[in-house]
Amino acid sequence: MNKTVLATAVAAALALAGCGDDKTSEATMANTAVAEQAAAPAATPATAANPLLVKSVLQYEAPDFTQIRNEHFLPAFDAGMKEQLAEVAAIATNAEAPTFDNTIVAMERSGAMLQRAGVVFFNLNGSDSNDARRAIESEVSPKLAAHSDDIYLNPQLFARVKSIFEAREQAGLTPEAKRLVEVYFERFVRAGAQLSDADKAKIRALNEEHSSLVSKFSQNLLKASSDAAVVVDSKEQLAGLSDAEIQMAAEEAKAKGLEGKYLLPITNTTRQPVLMSLKDRALRQKVWEASANRAISGDTDNRPLVQRMIEIRAERAKLLGFNNWAEYSLEPQMAKSPQAALAMLTTMVPDVVANTRLEQADIEAKIKAEGGDFEVQPWDWEYYAEQVRKEKYALDESQVKPYFEFERVLNDGVFFTMNKLFGISFKARPDLPVYHPEVKAYEVFDEDGTSVALFYADYFAREGKRGGAWMSSFVDQSTLLGKKPVVVNVMNIAKGAPGQPTLISFDHVTTMFHEMGHGVHGMLSQVTYPSLSGTDVSRDFVEFPSTFQEDWASYPEVLANYAKHYQTGEAIPAELLAKVQAAKNFNQGFDTLEYLAAALLDMEWHMLSVDNAKQDVAMFEAAALKKYGVDLPAVPPRYKTPYFSHSMGGGYSASYYAYMWSEILAADAYAFMQTRGGLTRDNGMKFRKSILSVGNTKPLMETYVEFRGQEPTTDGLLIRRGLKKPG
Ligand SMILES: [Zn+2]
Repeated sequence: MNKTVLATAVAAALALAGCGDDKTSEATMANTAVAEQAAAPAATPATAANPLLVKSVLQYEAPDFTQIRNEHFLPAFDAGMKEQLAEVAAIATNAEAPTFDNTIVAMERSGAMLQRAGVVFFNLNGSDSNDARRAIESEVSPKLAAHSDDIYLNPQLFARVKSIFEAREQAGLTPEAKRLVEVYFERFVRAGAQLSDADKAKIRALNEEHSSLVSKFSQNLLKASSDAAVVVDSKEQLAGLSDAEIQMAAEEAKAKGLEGKYLLPITNTTRQPVLMSLKDRALRQKVWEASANRAISGDTDNRPLVQRMIEIRAERAKLLGFNNWAEYSLEPQMAKSPQAALAMLTTMVPDVVANTRLEQADIEAKIKAEGGDFEVQPWDWEYYAEQVRKEKYALDESQVKPYFEFERVLNDGVFFTMNKLFGISFKARPDLPVYHPEVKAYEVFDEDGTSVALFYADYFAREGKRGGAWMSSFVDQSTLLGKKPVVVNVMNIAKGAPGQPTLISFDHVTTMFHEMGHGVHGMLSQVTYPSLSGTDVSRDFVEFPSTFQEDWASYPEVLANYAKHYQTGEAIPAELLAKVQAAKNFNQGFDTLEYLAAALLDMEWHMLSVDNAKQDVAMFEAAALKKYGVDLPAVPPRYKTPYFSHSMGGGYSASYYAYMWSEILAADAYAFMQTRGGLTRDNGMKFRKSILSVGNTKPLMETYVEFRGQEPTTDGLLIRRGLKKPG
């Protein structure tokens, strides 16, 4: 049974296959100068030659984007659901006694058409959305939720799965097959397969309603963010921005019919990239408020949706025998319980708050020194932090960016590191169809010349692309189905103006490494069953292989290879490099605190029981932050509830903590490698073999310990974040 469409049908709309990523916190000005994909010819009848109804003939079944039109999706979804229901019915009513092959393997093989349509659609709806696609999403999401229930709440099918599960120890299964049986059994139980018919009906109704709310939430947010863009009348007000940023703002305005004005788009997190440089304090406040007040009014008010979603989640949890949604969500993860996740988060609060207060003192001293007479506000923080950073580290982004030219970072940084560690290389494949002219296709080869995977690179911001950065796949690896992986990395890097190179921040550099970390998790998977493939691991493990890759971006041998001036080719000066390294820990108090605030808020919402689930959004949020002592007025949470897609959009509900949990593993693993010689093939292959190739074929702590020789400790993380001294 195909995982993306079924197991995470709803989550897929927002957080595709393993990563709704949170790394990007920098410039994501949508470049509307880039032409949208050509509109579909209106005359194509939906019934004629729908490419989604058949297997793609392209290499590794890569989708043929030149043939796929929006009108193909709904018929393919309908036909795909019908096909899978027939396949599942045949399995459920099979007269033979249930066996691993005639039940579990048969389910792994089912739903091929639905999978095909689903991955293409949800990928495009995330990275290249438009009104037509949003309408399809609204229509199909509740249908997919119902379809999933039709399978997981089928009593005959569950009876077969249960009998195989109960006999699994004596069935002579391979360890991977046994794991698959356990995963299936758990999926059924967690979907409600053991409930009474009346409760099953309740669950079904709740699921359908929830999936509609999730899709409405994300659509409201997209519109609210677009509407929140701040119009600026004169260039003078934009003092502090670079010429390129001002030009971009002028183009943004022009594209919206506001020629002669400037438009500052609002993206993703509470903090906004321009706040770092805008000198005009009143304009900073306006931008910050536009961001922080998103989706709380008019026809894009997400608060009633949040209230209902929280109620539904609590009610579902109760029906399934849990006290709240957080308990239900964490049971199958590495953390196991909300208490374990909370313990990890809250032990960090004192150190983090103390560091943040030190940073605040520096900032307030800077404000005074510049003749200001006010307490630092959220819209001031980044502006003055940037001043302090320049002063303390004599480092300004404009000095550094010329050494981080996009193509060089990708080829000589990211690809170079993957080659050093894993022996793989990337070859451009301009002949393969892509879904947007800015997407670039590559074929990935192993050292001995074996072709391993296809990789699509979609790095630049544009209208219609969801904020942030993520990895997803079009085809999952599995030897059962003879499939090699086709994966994509998506980011929102502001492309250089026409004729100019794209120079990026170090933050974006590390995000490129991060997403490639998910990429190789998908591409180097070597498992039998698609449900256990690659990134299909728990939320608090999936960010481990990606976060692990981030630190190679500042490894000396890697840096020396890619950090070269875009005009002269000169290597980044050692002194500047030392500053970049030293500046890495700057503002970590703020960064960690805004994250912790959001993670705690997410957990609090989902620890409500059904009896007190209905809460006033703003009041609840304030009380939750206060409860954990993370309510510093100048440091608001990274996301407020009405635009907290990770938490409310479904993909990371009660799981936003997972980023930090994964970072513990990542920092521990990276530190371990440094004790074994650093960037060597031997280290890389050890990681590839014990972590990347095994997917979810084993319990994840077991997977980790096999690589590391012991369970992880938090030391690596605290040192990585500058909260503890090494040694
Ligand atoms: Zn990630």
